[in-house]
Amino acid sequence: MPGCDKPRLSLKDGVMPELIVEEPTVLECIDGFGDCQGAVENRTPLSASGRSFPRCEKHWEARLRRQDELLRRYPEQPPHDWSPLDAGESWGSEDY
Ligand SMILES: [Zn+2]
Repeated sequence: MPGCDKPRLSLKDGVMPELIVEEPTVLECIDGFGDCQGAVENRTPLSASGRSFPRCEKHWEARLRRQDELLRRYPEQPPHDWSPLDAGESWGSEDY
């Protein structure tokens, strides 16, 4: 069929090329776009996955603020009318 023989670039679903990194010798802030401030360190994991990511001080503070907002929106305690039987899931996962 004409028009179907062009090579097409395709990315595997869910795989971002920039996330495929080898063990870095120098930590780079994962939120950095040239506007980082302070030391870049592997920060305490906030998510349930337990993975830590390198961030500079500036972006780490921004991440903490975002975490505060997440906790306000998704409190530790489920709403009184929430039931695990409804969704078949458990409260508390931060993967959304
Ligand atoms: Zn940064």
